[in-house]
Amino acid sequence: MYNRRKFIKLSAAGASLAVVSTDLLAKTVTAAPLAAGLPIVISTWGFGIAANQEAWKTLSKGGRALDAVEAGVKIPEADLTNHTVGRSGYPDRDGHVTLDACIMDEKGNCGAVAAMEYIAHPISIARLVMEKTPHVFLVGEGATQFAVEQGFKKERLLLPSSEKAWKEWLKKAEYKPIINIEDSKGIPGNQYNHDTIGMLALDVKGNISGACTTSGMAFKMHGRVGDSPIIGAGLYVDNEVGGATSTGVGEEVIRNVGSFLVVELMRQGYTPEAACKEAVQRIIKKKPDTAKEIQVGFLAINKKGEYGAYAIQKGFSFAVCNKNKQDLLIKGKSFY
Ligand code: ASP
Repeated sequence: MYNRRKFIKLSAAGASLAVVSTDLLAKTVTAAPLAAGLPIVISTWGFGIAANQEAWKTLSKGGRALDAVEAGVKIPEADLTNHTVGRSGYPDRDGHVTLDACIMDEKGNCGAVAAMEYIAHPISIARLVMEKTPHVFLVGEGATQFAVEQGFKKERLLLPSSEKAWKEWLKKAEYKPIINIEDSKGIPGNQYNHDTIGMLALDVKGNISGACTTSGMAFKMHGRVGDSPIIGAGLYVDNEVGGATSTGVGEEVIRNVGSFLVVELMRQGYTPEAACKEAVQRIIKKKPDTAKEIQVGFLAINKKGEYGAYAIQKGFSFAVCNKNKQDLLIKGKSFY
């Protein structure tokens, strides 16, 4: 709708300018930005800063949002110090590192993998599922098999440091997710912190894409899948409206189809922050006692490049990168 309105405005401007100079008209139309802040990329948490920088390399050259988000989230996926996303993720309670990711483009195409072992970049496999198969979602061994067929290396992902943490955890073997927060510099608050990177980008053409990738909750049951690879839960993009992504305890996000809800609320006219707040409040309303003990955060962007976030607990932050603001880390508002 935004595009259409903008187009109508530009056409109207063009009609009056045409009598003056067609050359001027061409310059006026092509120079008019879709929205002042484009291109733009936003991501969950402090590790989103480095991821945004990578995405920015594509966006600033006029590249496609889809390419930007894939390249961006591969940074935390490859980061050996990050135990919540990609190759260095903490394992499940049986010692398996299982990764989840999904991706969605401006045409509504999407792809996902879940509970995938031995492959370090789940986001790239999710994209290949989207582009090279008739399916949307591959899980477990099937996802690994597809990745290998596509030329990806099968490797043991359990790092010695992750194995040590898992063995330590096994002493009590108590599954009690810690509320994920980080300090003002973006440092995670706890060694068992459970964070996901969700990234949303708008390219110069005003097209939106999103990516979401995680190793899931540390020490989860084998086979457990959270919200992150589920389209509509961990990520949703509608190029007419905007995009949303989430982080935190995936079970509560799935129960409320969180990211889809945020996008639908934006369609009704909610700002990105107000839509995220409403989605958080739904979770709290349904399970007020559980909500006191857990973290869920939503992050959203609309077609104009306006963004916002809201979380259950304080300590949620998100990173923003556009022409005017690089490396920006913003504290998300929260219910508590
Ligand atoms: N949402 C992820 C999951 O439930 C974990 C997280 O973001 O902390 O698997």
